[in-house]
Amino acid sequence: MAIPSNPRVGLVGWRGMVGSVLMQRMAAEGDFAHIEPVFFSTSNAGGALPATIAGYAKNERSLLAASDLKALAACDVILTCQGSDFTKQAYPALRAAGWKGFWIDAAKTLRMNDDAVIVLDPVNMPVVKDALARGVRDYVGGNCTVSCMLMGVGALFKADLVEWMTATTYQAASGGGAQHMRELLMQMGTLHASVSSLLDDPASAILEIDRLVAERQRALTPEETKNFMVPLAGSLIPWIDVDRDDGTSLEEWKGSVETNKILGRGPGFGCEATPIDSICVRVGAMRCHSQSLTIKLKRDVPLADIEQMIAADNEWVRFVPNTREATIRELTPVAVTGTLQIPVGRVRKLTLGSTYLGAFTIGDQLLWGAAEPLRRMLRILLEQ
Ligand code: NAP
Repeated sequence: MAIPSNPRVGLVGWRGMVGSVLMQRMAAEGDFAHIEPVFFSTSNAGGALPATIAGYAKNERSLLAASDLKALAACDVILTCQGSDFTKQAYPALRAAGWKGFWIDAAKTLRMNDDAVIVLDPVNMPVVKDALARGVRDYVGGNCTVSCMLMGVGALFKADLVEWMTATTYQAASGGGAQHMRELLMQMGTLHASVSSLLDDPASAILEIDRLVAERQRALTPEETKNFMVPLAGSLIPWIDVDRDDGTSLEEWKGSVETNKILGRGPGFGCEATPIDSICVRVGAMRCHSQSLTIKLKRDVPLADIEQMIAADNEWVRFVPNTREATIRELTPVAVTGTLQIPVGRVRKLTLGSTYLGAFTIGDQLLWGAAEPLRRMLRILLEQ
């Protein structure tokens, strides 16, 4: 099922955090040259296109209403980073009205639908191609942590080497959205301010500084912790997203079911799912999600072969030698943020046995974790 040349692509959510990164990447890759972009808004319908996106438009000069089903249905493709509320409202109404276009979405709403594919083409191009051939029209970006992890160690899954895997994640403030990033920085500033005079004095006692910081952390007001609910600066929060009432968080559940769906595994694909479990932790990083992995291999593969497989899997993965110097320079959120690189390091056989592998990986969750798989899916449609 092909789409017309220069298709009309409705862009919804272009000014949010994911949407802004998407616009930057689409511009950098020349994607706008191949489409007729139409910009929708939930808050400023009828307004003029702002300068940030006006240069990408061809014929449209104003923002269309994201609630206007007729305008949405006039698009060959809708690419949305607007969030679940928009998806829940617009998607079923459009399909019910007989709209046959392609829906590309950052929100979680449709991810686990039987007739939706989770897109991460460097990892699951065969799954995407198969779906296109079957006439599937819904393509959804995966959970950011899952996508970043699979970009790093997907080679081991592709080679069917993974018996099971556990992850401990170190997830950035950006996963919660812009307000969460601001709150983290505000808390950092507040804590610093509470001891700045003592910090200026090299003779001041560190335990006194520590006591005052802890006192200030515990005294942060509901307003100062509105988004994370508890202090994050100088701390961490080992729970992300809602409680599933079975001892796990929704984020941890996604780590298992989405990884398997991306890889085309599990009952829906006529094979066993790979067991994956995790503890997901929010840390005070800005926009890179990191994770420490324990992988049980199905057989004993030499470490050098594993390193080679990981390094050769895709053009973005960067193998980081398991040395202190390489790790502290290359395997940190600060080194990775704003880039498409996915470093994988700390790769070693664990003392548990020769089929137990340890690894650590990082990815910018607004790029590979959100915007990049979506814009690449649009290009796959354009190049059909
Ligand atoms: P966001 O920054 O909150 O943006 C969503 C929408 O909020 C915008 O499109 C905009 O819609 C509106 N908005 C209201 N005030 C705004 C302001 N001051 N600045 C910018 N936009 C404002 O949401 P997001 O973090 O990009 O997430 C969008 C979707 O992607 C969600 O479904 C999320 O779950 C998913 N996702 C997010 C991440 C992530 O790292 N954040 C990763 C993967 C997937 P109007 O222009 O119509 O007003």
